[in-house]
Amino acid sequence: RAKAERGRHPCFYEPSMDEKVRIRRKLSADLRQAVETGQLTICYQVQRVVATGEIRGYEALVRWEHPTQGTIMPDDFIPLAEESDLILQIGEWVLRCVCAEAVQWLQPYTVAVNLSGMQFVHSDIARIVANILKETGLPPQRLELELTESTFIADQARALQVLHQIKDMGVSLALDDFGTGYSSLDTLRRFPFDRIKIDRSFFGVMQTSEHTQAIVRAVLALGRAFGTSVMAEGIETAEQLSMLNAAGCYEAQGFLLGRPATLADIVKNGQITMNGAL
Ligand code: C2E
Ligand code: MG
Ligand code: MG
Ligand code: MG
Repeated sequence: RAKAERGRHPCFYEPSMDEKVRIRRKLSADLRQAVETGQLTICYQVQRVVATGEIRGYEALVRWEHPTQGTIMPDDFIPLAEESDLILQIGEWVLRCVCAEAVQWLQPYTVAVNLSGMQFVHSDIARIVANILKETGLPPQRLELELTESTFIADQARALQVLHQIKDMGVSLALDDFGTGYSSLDTLRRFPFDRIKIDRSFFGVMQTSEHTQAIVRAVLALGRAFGTSVMAEGIETAEQLSMLNAAGCYEAQGFLLGRPATLADIVKNGQITMNGAL
């Protein structure tokens, strides 16, 4: 009977639950502070041509430099931010910061920014993007926005309209984490993506799984048929890279090709030259 009662109230008497809620509340309050006091930073991860190693662009990835906990990764605070309107503030800050930085690069690489679904539902994201491009002077052709399918699952009709507005400005769109979650071929058919990013979970097992290799080849074929470029995410080994090259995958991103780094480090490495001071 005791067991049945526990089953009905699975978490209620669990002492660590209070603690978890407390830590979460504290982190959420800290995050609000973080946005206001400039604790968020941006890392950039290089994207390269598989066959030559030539740089195609960079993906911007947000970090939280917490005053006592050190660097907190986005998977540990973006979901928290998405529970309130904080994600809108963070999303807009990231976009503005990245566009303002990228416009100062002498090399006109594209820069990809991840968007949260909340930014589609609860803000006028097309207008925000247009304003930030105007404010910073970044040519729209240099900006790419990365979305996952969960972003627009809620209201596909509205999402489609907004994505077309964004595309009409000259900004490109990438479908992130393809092959996981809600992935459907219908999305590729209906939405105007310029690029498909195959999720990194495929490449960890690619060498040993013929089925996975077949899926990767099929997505590459789809991309070719649709005129959509395909990028592989999470490439960590030379073997993975040569398999991709053999399969005709043009672009990739991953620790093998470059880890996320601060702009200062990228400038120091000579990959990017700044037009003016950092
Ligand atoms: P994502 O957009 O799929 O970004 C790629 C993630 O994979 C990054 O993690 C990157 O560091 C990691 N990664 C890249 N190459 C490799 C590899 O070879 N091996 C492994 N194991 N991992 C690799 P990160 O920076 O922790 O970001 C995680 C996720 O957080 C991102 O996934 C993205 O969905 C989200 N995110 C990051 N920045 C933002 C942002 O500014 N706004 C929003 N809404 N989400 C963001
Ligand atoms: Mg991404
Ligand atoms: Mg991804
Ligand atoms: Mg992701």
